[in-house]
Amino acid sequence: MNILPKFTYLFQCLPINVPKSFFKELNKLITSFIWQKKNPRVKLSSLQAPYSRGGLNLPNFRNYYLASQYRSILIWLYAERSEVRWVPIEQYEVNPISLKDVPFLGTKKCLSKLTNNSIILNTFRAWQESHSLLKINISFLRRTPLWGNPDLSHHISDSILRGWKDRNIRTVADLYNNDTFIDFQQLKEKFKLPDQNFFKFLQIRDWIKEKTKGTFPEIPKESPFETHLCTKPWKSIKGIVSSIYTIINEKLPDYNKTSLKRKWEADLGYVYEEVEWYHLMEQAQTMLISTNHRQMQFNIFHRTYYTPYRLHKIDINYSPKCLRCKVIDGDLLHMLWNCPVIEEFWRRTTEIISRVIGIQVEMDPKLWILGDIDSINVDYHKKYFILLANTRVCS
Ligand SMILES: [Zn+2]
Repeated sequence: MNILPKFTYLFQCLPINVPKSFFKELNKLITSFIWQKKNPRVKLSSLQAPYSRGGLNLPNFRNYYLASQYRSILIWLYAERSEVRWVPIEQYEVNPISLKDVPFLGTKKCLSKLTNNSIILNTFRAWQESHSLLKINISFLRRTPLWGNPDLSHHISDSILRGWKDRNIRTVADLYNNDTFIDFQQLKEKFKLPDQNFFKFLQIRDWIKEKTKGTFPEIPKESPFETHLCTKPWKSIKGIVSSIYTIINEKLPDYNKTSLKRKWEADLGYVYEEVEWYHLMEQAQTMLISTNHRQMQFNIFHRTYYTPYRLHKIDINYSPKCLRCKVIDGDLLHMLWNCPVIEEFWRRTTEIISRVIGIQVEMDPKLWILGDIDSINVDYHKKYFILLANTRVCS
């Protein structure tokens, strides 16, 4: 798809807010194009899901927009050694805190006490929205800054706290020892603080206690984006957009695939573990080379075919009976497997393929319809052959 780079180029170059309504309109156009203005048989979000979640990896433009803003966030984090020309301008805007602390301020309200610069606020909004897509609360993170944080009142964020900053107590994480909140004695020894700082310690401890209700004294959890940006030694910003996009897409909680899984399980009388199920769907997309074959397996998994039984439900004048045997209701499993007319076909197929690969394979719908080749003890090439044969005969 050569449209995507044109969008991501603009998203990265223009740090402006692109409203959700724009992406809604874009999704409508894409859906109408894919389904040729007919009713969609699969939700767009299912097509946009990654292979590992049973999708087709179709680009999600809004998530690409959010991921594109991480280019600026990464530059903020490494601002001190960055030669990017806008860095000093944005640093001036957020003084007295450092640009690298901006993502960890927690809320937009807190950031807007420092600046009303729409470019900075917009980048922060993308950081916030990508977290809320994954339902992650970022109001208080382990890298949340101490001194200069507008969330702290002036009588707490005073010259003593400034002194802590000079002694390298910069963020919330600096107050934890082995992921547990530090006591004053340990803090004093670690950073060579005077006894008079005890009251400041109590003030900060109360603030953190209030912010981490329920989990104190454990250290706040890291978000996957935070881990990705802060723990990897980034030498350049290359690869940031696609890696963030992958995190968003793979962790999105709202791919509703469980109903599909349940339907297939009811049909086949077999219960899959969630990992096994997603592995099956991913395998069909990564092992098969032909786009047609991959599309066909996708259609089978997503049950997109209009069977006589389904057509009858839409239009009562349409006969629900199978077109081959004309006796039994033609639901999906009957049309693909159970119909007595095609039983002989599957028996012959199983026989021929068993002979070709030199191992007796079972006449099992899990294998021949869903391509569940994992239980067969043969090498990769033979597994591929079975999967390929399976999609060929299905077509
Ligand atoms: Zn039939």
